Amino acid sequence: MWLFKSPEIVYGEGALDTLEQVSGRRAFVVTDVTMVKLGFVDRVVGYLQRAGMETQVFAEVEPNPTYQVVLKGKELCLAFEPDWVVGLGGGSAMDAAKAIYVLYERPDMEVEEINPLVPLGLGKKARLMAIPTTSGTGAETTWLVVLTDQEAHKKTVLGSRENVPHLAIVDPCFTMGLPQQITADTGMDVLTHAIEGYTSLWVNDFSDGLCLAAIRLVFSYLPRAWADGQDAEAREKMHNAATIAGLGFGNSNAALAHAMGHPMSPNLGVPHGRAVGLYLPYTIQFTAGCMGHRYAEIARFLSLPASSSEEGTASLVQAVRELAGRIGQPLTVADLGVTYQDFEAALPKMVEDGLIDTTTSARCPDDLEMEKLYRYAYEGKAIDF
Ligand SMILES: [Zn+2]
Repeated sequence: MWLFKSPEIVYGEGALDTLEQVSGRRAFVVTDVTMVKLGFVDRVVGYLQRAGMETQVFAEVEPNPTYQVVLKGKELCLAFEPDWVVGLGGGSAMDAAKAIYVLYERPDMEVEEINPLVPLGLGKKARLMAIPTTSGTGAETTWLVVLTDQEAHKKTVLGSRENVPHLAIVDPCFTMGLPQQITADTGMDVLTHAIEGYTSLWVNDFSDGLCLAAIRLVFSYLPRAWADGQDAEAREKMHNAATIAGLGFGNSNAALAHAMGHPMSPNLGVPHGRAVGLYLPYTIQFTAGCMGHRYAEIARFLSLPASSSEEGTASLVQAVRELAGRIGQPLTVADLGVTYQDFEAALPKMVEDGLIDTTTSARCPDDLEMEKLYRYAYEGKAIDF
């Protein structure tokens, strides 16, 4: 038995207009200062007020949100008593909104107690809405909550299938004109979700088609969205791709590139999408022995040479590298500008934290292999495993 979770999804140009029809009394909007400066918060709040709702804005979410910010949001939420909690922004704002929503519903719980094995009984006070403003994390569809434990310098993946948002508004208007670097980072995150969702240990019939569709959208439209930030069709397709990939990997799972990428943010300050996208070709190679047939299926779907698992895997690795190169993304950790000294200093902690994260990888590295993989990706010099 398995379970497929999805929010109700309103997508495409004009999707935001739906907000005027949402019924409720009070909406608590979880976001960040950039969203305020860009005027996105005013826009969303305007819609909610026209829908007859009282609103409160909590704009203190920082990149890689911490337990502390979630606890502050929880307290404000408890005082305001909303019947909607709205996450507006990138993955950080939406993840913070999810955690705040859970703790508002269950104030008796600690942040670290949110996990898929504990029934939460949510939905008694409010519903959860997510409005992504970048085309990346897919957090509007997933149950995952990635928070940073500041004291332990570590990213923790929490969440419950019950905290999948009830409603996702996927309107590309927010992504028009996003800077090239953000477009590239978030786009590579989408690709990594989709490829890993198709090749993790939790692959299933329901996720497969979504992952393949998202992969093709990224290869077709990411270079266009990157080259011309105002390309409306490319922006809309990438926004759809992010959500579709979210549904795909959210109901399967991410895998080794995410396991290796997660420690890069707290330890070396590398943005999520840039880190996971960088590791993707390396982890495809590492898991080719058990997932080569699936990589070849992806390659065939993209009309790449794939007469065997080996050829398909090699084609896919090359295609990922070419795409990354076209949009100015690094191919090695050295390309990121991380000095060898800093890399070496961070390595033991990254290996330790990365290993905890590998449970749904088709081939789980041991600590020695993990270290080798990180070293391989530092300069891209081939290593024997
Ligand atoms: Zn990701």
